[in-house]
Amino acid sequence: MGAEQDWGDGTRAVRAGLPEPRKYEPTLPGPVFAAHYHLPGEPTGPYTYGRDENPTWTLLERAIGELEAPGDGAVETVVFASGMAAASSVMFSQLTAGDVAVLPSDGYQALPLVREQLEAYGIGVRTAPTGGDAQLSVLDGAKLLWLETPSNPGLDVCDIRRLVAAAHDAGALVAVDNTLATPLGQRPLALGADFSVASDTKGMTGHGDILLGHVTCRDPRLIAGIRRWRKITGAIPGPMEAWLAHRSLATLQLRVERQCANALALAEVLAGREDVTGLRYPGLAGDPSHEVAAGQMRRFGSVVSFVLADKDRAERFLDALRLVDDATSFGGVRSTAERRGRWGGDAVPPGFIRFSVGAEDPGDLVADVLHALDMSTGRS
Ligand SMILES: *Cc1c(COP(=O)(O)O)cnc(C)c1O
Repeated sequence: MGAEQDWGDGTRAVRAGLPEPRKYEPTLPGPVFAAHYHLPGEPTGPYTYGRDENPTWTLLERAIGELEAPGDGAVETVVFASGMAAASSVMFSQLTAGDVAVLPSDGYQALPLVREQLEAYGIGVRTAPTGGDAQLSVLDGAKLLWLETPSNPGLDVCDIRRLVAAAHDAGALVAVDNTLATPLGQRPLALGADFSVASDTKGMTGHGDILLGHVTCRDPRLIAGIRRWRKITGAIPGPMEAWLAHRSLATLQLRVERQCANALALAEVLAGREDVTGLRYPGLAGDPSHEVAAGQMRRFGSVVSFVLADKDRAERFLDALRLVDDATSFGGVRSTAERRGRWGGDAVPPGFIRFSVGAEDPGDLVADVLHALDMSTGRS
């Protein structure tokens, strides 16, 4: 057996965070439901009160750390009740009045709300698009640079190493929202980022049935601030959710591998359709993001986006799909798609489809999509 840091992603995923085998104990101990723990005498940890620590979180945090930074015993992970709880913990624990944060202008749809809140606290916010590393031009004097790559839903990619180097020169910390890629697709800490942040509601847990988030970081002082923020806000995951997440990680490599292969197969077929425009998938040779993505990503994710003629055509297409649910979110084993413009907020055309590719058989999925495209032309 090779050394642990040489393990493949599948091996790492099935073993991530497991405790040492002990006779009569389960492989992955069940969820620990506890508001408090027996605590005679001096109130020292690790387990004192349920808002501060929980053994089920500990195992999950270890597992995520092993995937985010294999072989790096120094990283720490803190899990949260949702991706936004994790993202907020970085922004609001690291920034104070007078600081400046640089956010993507094309990032997750809750970022404008975060911006309003930061500004209400006297924190300056600048934005620039993800594509073309445009955030470089607004870094001067910034305290925190927030990257989201590939961006959601536009699927632009920025060069993490290049932006980290410039941000660190300017004295700014760098956080990467790694939700879309998952740690099997991209490892932000290895690319130099200070924080890897994700909504584990998406591909990381992959079944569309729990909300969860995490922050992984190598600097003990920074992660202490994150942990303190979780305690203050109480944005803690339930033990059941944490346990389900850990159970789901065992299949992460299988799911991500299949979903990425399906996404590429779908993108290749869509590339040949005249009624599909604006097709984006970072794994597709010839995609505007492909070259930069290939330099930092190990897998290109499960999201494909494209544009149909107009709102009605897009609605008819979604209605005609049988294997693909019309739903938001992404990264699950069951394919979903939605007309992104229905939310407002994202700067996308009315016929813009964000397609989250699941783990169906590729032939079935591609056939369903082609059938729905043909059924929805409106010319029949
Ligand atoms: C979904 C998502 C979030 C927010 O995660 P929740 O778990 O819904 O709070 C943040 N960033 C990205 C890129 C997302 O897709």
